[in-house]
Amino acid sequence: MMEVFEDIAQETAPVDETDSRKRYKGICPVCGKELYICKSLAMLIGINTGHGSCLGCKEFLHMEFNEQRQEMDLEPFDKYVEREQAKRDADAVAESLGYGGFFKDDE
Ligand SMILES: [Zn+2]
Repeated sequence: MMEVFEDIAQETAPVDETDSRKRYKGICPVCGKELYICKSLAMLIGINTGHGSCLGCKEFLHMEFNEQRQEMDLEPFDKYVEREQAKRDADAVAESLGYGGFFKDDE
C-alpha cells in the first residue's frame, strides 16, 4: 500500500500567495520546523489521515487534522506504522476511492 501513500502525499511547501488553498500549521516532531499543510485528499473525503515530508529534516510524517486547534498533528511515519493504523487508513482511503482504481488509468 505504500504506492498509495506516495501518490497522495501532501504538499508541505511554505504559503504561496498565488495558492489560495487553506493551509494549516503543523510542527515537525523531529526538527521543530513549522509547516503549512493543505488538507489531504483523504481528509477532504472524510478520513482524517495524511502524510508528507518535512521541509526541514525531510522526515516522512503522518498527519492528522486537529479540529479543535485547526492545526495538523504530526508524527514520524514509522511511529505511525508501528501503531498499525497505517494499513487500516490506507485500506479505508482505497475503498473510498474505489479499490484498485488508483493506478488503472495509468496503464
Ligand atoms: Zn523536520
